[in-house]
Amino acid sequence: MKSSFLTNRALLLAFAVTAVLSVYSCKSQPEAAAEAEAPAPAMEAVDTTGPEYTSRYICPMYCKGSGSDQPGTCPACGMEYVLNEDFHETHADSTSAQ
Ligand SMILES: [Zn+2]
Repeated sequence: MKSSFLTNRALLLAFAVTAVLSVYSCKSQPEAAAEAEAPAPAMEAVDTTGPEYTSRYICPMYCKGSGSDQPGTCPACGMEYVLNEDFHETHADSTSAQ
């Protein structure tokens, strides 16, 4: 009977210690996670292969869905297309080239 009482006390003590420890671990977990995580925001890799980058005329803001062979305005933001300096003719049929 005595040993059972002691065991109960030990269990209670163990439970209390576990509860306290879990509270502390819960408090310290977010900090540890914040330290482990990279502080820099996840930047989306810019895809420069789309028509908004490779067209002859492109939106200065590189809006999705912009880009054209002819001058015009961006359908996304309304800005005037600019001549794409990085545009390269795939076929040399232009007399103004070079
Ligand atoms: Zn635009």
